[in-house]
Order: sequence, then structure tokens, then C-alpha cells
Amino acid sequence: MDGIGVLMTCPMFAHLEQELAKRFKLYRLWDYPSPRRFFETHSGSIRAVVGNTKVGADAELIHALPRLEMVATYSVGLDKIDLGKCREKGIRVANTPDVLTDDVADVAIALMLCVLRKVCGCDAFVRSGKWKSRDFGFTTKFSGQSIGIVGLGRIGSAIAKRAEAFGCPISYHSRSEKPRVSYKYYPSAVELARHCRILVVACALTAETRHIIGREVLDALGPEGVLINIGRGAHVDEPELVSALLEGRLGGAGLDVFENEPEVAEELLRMDNVVLLPHVGSDTVETSTVMADLVLANLEAHFAGNPLPTPVI
Ligand code: NAP
Repeated sequence: MDGIGVLMTCPMFAHLEQELAKRFKLYRLWDYPSPRRFFETHSGSIRAVVGNTKVGADAELIHALPRLEMVATYSVGLDKIDLGKCREKGIRVANTPDVLTDDVADVAIALMLCVLRKVCGCDAFVRSGKWKSRDFGFTTKFSGQSIGIVGLGRIGSAIAKRAEAFGCPISYHSRSEKPRVSYKYYPSAVELARHCRILVVACALTAETRHIIGREVLDALGPEGVLINIGRGAHVDEPELVSALLEGRLGGAGLDVFENEPEVAEELLRMDNVVLLPHVGSDTVETSTVMADLVLANLEAHFAGNPLPTPVI
């Protein structure tokens, strides 16, 4: 498959880049001063694109690559791919579901524990030497807190399973009620927020779920409530989140994702009731390796004329 042109949209995991370079004629979009300059010389050579959560395949990129057959994303989320355009042009799409579920669910639990038990504040307290002059103070119990999950898919279900082990009652909101689960279903995110202490966002980002967490949901969650977002930044209306926290209408937040990554609202940086992570939900060496291998397996299957291991389209 040496001669097949594959385009990586931005730097990702080094193992993926190395393995792609061994198997295909690899082009790196970031090697060029602008995408336009790349398209001027190589647009006719590219048969597959490898994107991720930062740069995927939007309508402009798809339009610029007339021989594009496949988009293989190094992510489970599909929000950076113009799926409608791919369908229209008969372009295959594959992602990396399941293999990252455990890691992202682990991070969701870590955020809940960090916000309620103030783990980061405790760590800073010890390092600063303040412990020598006084005790840290009290935090909030996590075990047994009611948890509401927006999006009871693969990751949402894995979070629920973990939270159950902490004795937390679980409820959820998804597009559809799941007949096989015993958790309580609420038909809207607002209703769910009214009935839980910790609200976790774990749904897919689509036109319908953009800003699914706005003022009404945050007010329903209330001054004792905590928002955890391990989905995508655009699920949350970030200015509304900042206002709710500043005005004490929301108790705290744990965020792995932001609306305008890597930019984070200045106000959030100064709050001690929020924990901020740089979008690292699935970023373990183990999971990144398996995700990379899945991207490679999908590309190889496509070019060998075999069924894709994890097809989206
Ligand atoms: P999944 O199994 O496809 O689950 C997606 C869930 O979203 C489903 O429960 C679905 O509900 C729900 N959903 C879709 N549209 C909705 C709507 N309009 N209203 C309410 N719920 C809606 O996907 P997954 O593997 O769990 O991944 C979920 C998301 O996590 C990804 O799309 C990605 O954005 C995010 N993620 C983040 C990281 C990170 O590093 N932080 C890593 C991986 C993934 P139904 O079941 O009713 O259809």
C-alpha cells in the first residue's frame, strides 16, 4: 500500500504517525504553510484522511480532495467530520469506539472525586507548606451522591457502572429510554438536572446537543450541584457556566473539554471549585496505542477491499 496517499490533519500519537509512514505515502498537513498550499500541489494524491478531535474533515477539506475515499478518525467522536458530505460523496468513515471507553469513564470519576474532595487544592496546600500552620478544612462526600448522566452510551454506561460501585444512585437522559437498564430515565436534561447532585455530560456532539447544558439546566442543578463534562466543550454554554459559578448558582465543575480549546475562560482559572483538564480523557499510552492500531486496521481493510472493523459509514 506504499503508494497510497494518506493525509494526517495534525500531529497526533507518534506511534500512529510512524506506522502510517511505514504503510502508506504519508502527507502531514502541518508541514505546509497553509492547507491551501498543500491542496495546490497534492490534492489529487490523497485517498484517505486521518483526523482527530482537533482537525477532522470538514466540507472544505473534503471538497479539496477529489480522490478521497475514506476518513479514519483517531477518536470516537464524529463532530469534526462533515458526515453529510461524506455520505453524499460515497466516502467511508471509521472511528475508534469501545477501546477508549474505560479511560474516559475513569477520568469522569476522577473529576467527580477531585471536585468534591478538593484533591487538587489539597495537593497544592501540602506543596505550599500551608499544612504546617493549619488544617485544610472539610470537603464534600462523594460516595452515595446522586448522579445524572446525559448520554447513556458506551462511555455513559461505563461511568454509571463505576459510580454504582460508590453507592451512587444513577439516572440519565438520552435520545431514547433504555429498556434493559434499571436507572431512572428523564425525558430532558433539565428534568435530569433537577433530580441529581452531579450532572455528567457524556453524549455525542451534534446540532441537537450543542449547548444542551445552558442556563436552565445549570439553574436546575443548583448551588449544591456539580457539572462534569467529558463529552465536548460545545455541549456547554461556557459563558453561562462561568456566570453560574461566579454567582454561586452552581456549586462546582470538572471539565476535560472546553468550547474553544486550548483557550479556557480566564474566570475558570481563578476558581477553586473547578478542576480543569487539557482534554486527556483517552490519553493513556495503552489506549492510544490500541486506537492507533484500529485506525490502521480500518485503512488497511478499506484498501484491501475488506469490511471495516469499526465503520460509521
Ligand atoms: P455512544 O456510545 O455513541 O453514546 C453517545 C450517547 O449520546 C448515546 O447515549 C446517545 O443517546 C446520546 N445522544 C446522542 N444524541 C443525543 C441527544 N440529542 N440528546 C441526548 N443524548 C444524545 O458514544 P460514546 O463512545 O459513549 O462517546 C460519547 C462521546 O464522548 C463522544 O461522542 C465524544 O464526543 C466524547 N468523548 C470524549 C473523550 C474525551 O477525551 N474527553 C474521549 C472519547 C469520547 P441514545 O443512546 O439514546 O442514542
